[in-house]
Amino acid sequence: MCQNEDESVRKERLEKQGDKNVISEKMRPYLANNSAIRMMFEEGKKMAELYGADKVYDFSLGNPNVPAPQKVNQAIKEILDEEDPLFVHGYMSNAGYPQVRAAIAENLNQRFGTNFTERNLIMTVGAGSGLNVALKTVLDPGDEVLTVAPYFLEYRAYVTNYDGVLVTVEPDEETFQISAEAFAAKISAKTKAVIINNPNNPTGVVYSEDTIRALAAVLEEKQSEYGHAIYLISDEPYRELVFDGAAIPFVTKYYKNTMVVYSYSKSLSLPGERIGYLLIPDELEESEMTIDAATIANRISGCVNAPSLIQLAVGRCVDCQADLAFYDKNRRALYEGLTDMGFTCVRPQGAFYLWMKVPVKQTEAGTVKSPVEAETEFVQAAKKYHILIVPGSSFACPGYVRIAYCVSYETIMNALPEFKKLAEEFSL
Ligand code: PLP
Repeated sequence: MCQNEDESVRKERLEKQGDKNVISEKMRPYLANNSAIRMMFEEGKKMAELYGADKVYDFSLGNPNVPAPQKVNQAIKEILDEEDPLFVHGYMSNAGYPQVRAAIAENLNQRFGTNFTERNLIMTVGAGSGLNVALKTVLDPGDEVLTVAPYFLEYRAYVTNYDGVLVTVEPDEETFQISAEAFAAKISAKTKAVIINNPNNPTGVVYSEDTIRALAAVLEEKQSEYGHAIYLISDEPYRELVFDGAAIPFVTKYYKNTMVVYSYSKSLSLPGERIGYLLIPDELEESEMTIDAATIANRISGCVNAPSLIQLAVGRCVDCQADLAFYDKNRRALYEGLTDMGFTCVRPQGAFYLWMKVPVKQTEAGTVKSPVEAETEFVQAAKKYHILIVPGSSFACPGYVRIAYCVSYETIMNALPEFKKLAEEFSL
């Protein structure tokens, strides 16, 4: 596909191609519903060419605007200068360099009072790959995986990759916290895994220790009832991005059948480098066999191993910290600015997203707009002011929008007057 193709041209082309039996049945729906976030990102680039980058307020993609820590760049240079190129650029164990995994395990142990070794870690091609490896390791066709809306929409595709079925738990729209009871109601004999994402993309909500305990208790009970493991896959690419003193509980301490998926994409601003890990604790049922299977899943998914140079670099930078002050300043400015204008937003406690309820334009008396109609109208209206935001449907939760505030502070300050015009258009 041409990267900058118009949506209407693309649709027409796809319709013409529709009956050509070229690509697989499984891939066809993806062509028709390509990621709205990615499309908006492309649209943002086009708008920037037309109006100038400083006149476009692109809040679509979770692409950090903070440069990676200098120490990461330094580590890359040192590795290239100091190490044998055959070692740096060569294949290694499919799970990754042992010394890198040991350094990460040691760092986790210091921070969370755990007892991991290199054996518990498999380096992956970011969190996306970590999730795929975890799911490939445990899913059989027809197995169900539960997650709560709104969620990172790729979960659906990842589960479908292994012929699993993603089952959505409806959100508590008051708090967007996890309700253990709501999960309990959806767990069945077919449930093989539950995915949670803490801090949450797109709501910015942080799940507390009590919440994790309650969910763990439900999962323990259901495991006993159905007589098989139910894995809790904790997707944590934003683990360090928490504000107001909030803390992310380390889930392996609360529930034995936990797998943790981590990524350096957000914390160290390395999304293009594709580096993260999957952690499988010894406490997990048949952990030895599961770790071996996951290592093979990593290899046969086509990744073989995580990229070597950046893997070695993060191994030298385990104590690097995310630039919290940068995101916190943006978070406060945006949340306070928008709520002052009358928008209803969830106060973000983590990640770098703000979740906003879409205001509904009152036009003709008695007309009731569906959440999808309302969000489409709002997202389109925002574009008039060069504001790009992502509709809630992209996270299986229509009636909301996600605003990614991992942009520069200037973008936020320049966008606020435009948001004000949008608020006025919607009579706030
Ligand atoms: N999980 C969540 C919740 C995300 O938001 C993202 C990326 O935005 C990912 C996983 C994938 O992260 P990575 O870039 O490390 O593959």
